[in-house]
Amino acid sequence: LRMVSSQPIGNEPVSDEELRPQVLDGFIGQPRLKAQLQLFLDAARKREVPPDHILMSGPPGLGKTTLAMITANELGVPIRVTSGPAIQHAGDLASILSSLDAGEVLFIDEIHRLPRAAEELLYIAMEDFRVDVMVGKGPGASSIPLTLPRFTVIGATTREGMLPSPLRARFGFTAHLDFYPREELEKLVERSAAVLGVMLGDGSAQELSLRSRGTPRIANRLLRRVRDWATVHDLDIVRPDAVREALALYQIDSEGLDRLDLAVLHAVVKSFNGGPVGLNNLAAMVGEEAETVETVCEPYLVREGFLIRTPKGRVATTKAWEHLGLTPRDDVSK
Ligand code: ADP
Repeated sequence: LRMVSSQPIGNEPVSDEELRPQVLDGFIGQPRLKAQLQLFLDAARKREVPPDHILMSGPPGLGKTTLAMITANELGVPIRVTSGPAIQHAGDLASILSSLDAGEVLFIDEIHRLPRAAEELLYIAMEDFRVDVMVGKGPGASSIPLTLPRFTVIGATTREGMLPSPLRARFGFTAHLDFYPREELEKLVERSAAVLGVMLGDGSAQELSLRSRGTPRIANRLLRRVRDWATVHDLDIVRPDAVREALALYQIDSEGLDRLDLAVLHAVVKSFNGGPVGLNNLAAMVGEEAETVETVCEPYLVREGFLIRTPKGRVATTKAWEHLGLTPRDDVSK
């Protein structure tokens, strides 16, 4: 379930679970999306049929997996979890599909990374609820069509644009998740603090939300580090100055930028004199895969006005130069 991402501090794969809301009501923020999904699920329940297939799209850590689990939970059906990279052959997917029970949810994380043959098999299965199972090998092999019960695929992707259009067209509903505004993250931090039993003083949730890069997963992770700080320093109530001290230890930037974000900004500004620079050159300079730079890092930097994308490449803005403590080149756009 992990997404490729570069986090400033350790990954905590299991502990994501304890903070996951179970019902749509507990899912914080994204009000429009929640209303759409609520209607979509209510209609399916009322008609007593499994809902159409759903695509969750957006950067890592914004709640795609959480929404998939909530969907299954709200429908009262089991959820089967797999991912694009976990499926190496079309046969792997065929055997998952042929074992699904009626109404079940099949969650496919990183669905844009399915092998081509599996993709084709999937969209036939999604459309016709049928899978062709190959029997035997070589010239004597034959395929037997197998009818599947109705089920719901929930795909998650950080790169919707990479999904072939026949596959994309099979989804009846696409949920676009975007970075969370500060007030929503603040609520999320308060909820998580209550779950973890951390007493936050006035202004502490805000302090955390400002540094969370618009991302629930990061907010929860920072909160855990702050909880460590409180434990070690025997604090009953964690006040904003304690939050700041704790996060300073982990070198969390005042804008919430992480190591990779900063590396990218440094590269554009210093190595390429502010840009424009192409994605591949930039990725090579920071030692990351182009896909990671493009899907994990850039959306946030662009959205916060540190970087702009131009036809010639990525360009650092005045805000980026100043954030690094440098004076912008004369011709840099505001
Ligand atoms: P994604 O699948 O998009 O990478 P996840 O669904 O795994 O992200 O979310 C990461 C963590 O953030 C989850 O453990 C969940 O606890 C929390 N989370 C994400 N979105 C929300 C939300 N809207 N409300 C509450 N918690 C959330």
